[in-house]
Amino acid sequence: MTRSDPDSCPGVLRLHQAADGPLARIRVPGGRLSPEQLQTLAAAAVDLSDGHIELTSRGNVQFRQVRDAAALTDRLTAAGLLPSATHERIRNIIASPLSGRVGGWTDVHPLVPALDEGLRAHPRLADLPGRVLFTLDDGRGDVSGLGGDIGVHALDEHTYALLLAGNDTGVRVSAADAVELMLATAHGFLDIRDGQWRLHEIPDGPGRVTEHLLSNHPGLDATGAPVEITARQDIPIGWLNQDDDRVALGAGVRLGSLPARTAEFIAAIERPVFLTPWRSLVITDLEEWAAEQVVRVLAPMGLLFDANSPWLQVSACAGRPGCAKSLTDVRADAAAAVESGRVIPTAATQSAQEGLDAEEIVAAGRQHWSGCDRRCGRPRGPVTDIIATPDGYRITPAE
Ligand code: SF4
Repeated sequence: MTRSDPDSCPGVLRLHQAADGPLARIRVPGGRLSPEQLQTLAAAAVDLSDGHIELTSRGNVQFRQVRDAAALTDRLTAAGLLPSATHERIRNIIASPLSGRVGGWTDVHPLVPALDEGLRAHPRLADLPGRVLFTLDDGRGDVSGLGGDIGVHALDEHTYALLLAGNDTGVRVSAADAVELMLATAHGFLDIRDGQWRLHEIPDGPGRVTEHLLSNHPGLDATGAPVEITARQDIPIGWLNQDDDRVALGAGVRLGSLPARTAEFIAAIERPVFLTPWRSLVITDLEEWAAEQVVRVLAPMGLLFDANSPWLQVSACAGRPGCAKSLTDVRADAAAAVESGRVIPTAATQSAQEGLDAEEIVAAGRQHWSGCDRRCGRPRGPVTDIIATPDGYRITPAE
């Protein structure tokens, strides 16, 4: 596939004109937010947008109905959330959220700032499409299956597999060299692309980039035993015992939309927070007593600490009024389905149906609601599609 247009991914300096007003997307490499940064986002959401922080499937955040882009730029810059005007849209880096705290072979989070700084240090890499995704998986397999373009996947404490377009290349690299190899791979992608936005769009893209790397790095080979990569669905939710005897709390966010007031309370805990690619977050480094207090205060505000909550089965695209293509307000319809008990958390058998009114929908298991056939924001893996059509909703069961 060859593309003639540049990608249209929004940033802070290039807003998307959505149907309900300007939309800004803020990159959060590795999903990591300091309490101060989260407080900055909460205040900006109230002062400059619609009062919510939208979580994206890349662990970034979005503001809708932005009223003053210049003021937003100033605030984000001061908080360290916009460190580059030229490279802002390419800082799409997902890392295993629990890495270094709960399980995993190694801690990938120290690689995140190194990769981010490396990307920003190369002027040419500003030419990467905003769609390109980097993944850093600590070996548990939670982010390698998310369809990244360039990734590393820990095989033990010291060794990573290089993944291209979500598949193992057979190339192995030490932790010390992982970031440099990812940067070299990004250059290789630019060398071979012909307008394409993603590596998988290039005919034999992964193979050609691998060849490019091997010819330029004499010490490399591609002989590692293949690692199978799958899209896992176990979102970290609830009480998680950290390896250092502290506690992390995984918190689901209803339809990925975090009210600014709730974000202020989370910031006030004064602990690092990680946004996940499952539109949830993880509050880390808590003492047990503090974790109990956090659940007591934030659960009534709507954060989800129960892994069995039906809200965790449901995602939805922007729908109306945010998207002009949408045939209906899918988020309201999805929320009504949850609140009226029509989302069945267990994976009961789901039949294909069409021509349904919203109130008729009863759906089981993981499901994504879309306002049209494009299915924006659909999670990877087995997901039932509930799609608005001119003749009512159509349900297509997960395969
Ligand atoms: S799936 Fe359709 S309606 Fe929903 S956000 Fe995408 S384009 Fe808009």
